[in-house]
Amino acid sequence: MVDRLFSDFFTFGGSRKDCYCAFCRSPRKVYTKKGVNLWNLIAAGFGSLVLMYVFWQEFDPRVLFVFVVLLAAAEIFIHFRWRLNIVCKHCGFDPVLYLKNPQLASEKVKAQLDIRKNNPASLLSPPLQLPKVTREKVEMAQKAEHAMAIRKKQSSLLSKQV
Ligand SMILES: [Zn+2]
Repeated sequence: MVDRLFSDFFTFGGSRKDCYCAFCRSPRKVYTKKGVNLWNLIAAGFGSLVLMYVFWQEFDPRVLFVFVVLLAAAEIFIHFRWRLNIVCKHCGFDPVLYLKNPQLASEKVKAQLDIRKNNPASLLSPPLQLPKVTREKVEMAQKAEHAMAIRKKQSSLLSKQV
């Protein structure tokens, strides 16, 4: 427990969790932390006090500004680290983008797979276990797309009426 707290303190809580890519099933390690925690708050407070004494050699109210800047920098760093790390390096699948815009996510995966196909170094890496596309899956996807299109049409007609 104490070890965990210490490692969290020095690595911005950068403990990584083992998991598998939802698309290509490659083993991966992802950061679970998305924002600042209590340790980062304490570290930012301590850091701003140190900086205050370095700059002004006495208590200065500008320390609050330094504290906020340090905390914002930590939040931005931790969030970007999580966001960049969540994208699969092997197939380019981005689960966050997939939830917002599945079409764009699939285009990015296609682009990444094209890059991988044309890169001779990928011949030496283990092959990806990509999902197999069966006729049933294609039919189901077409039905879902058709239902979505109808729903979109209905909602646009409804909004015109209102
Ligand atoms: Zn992947």
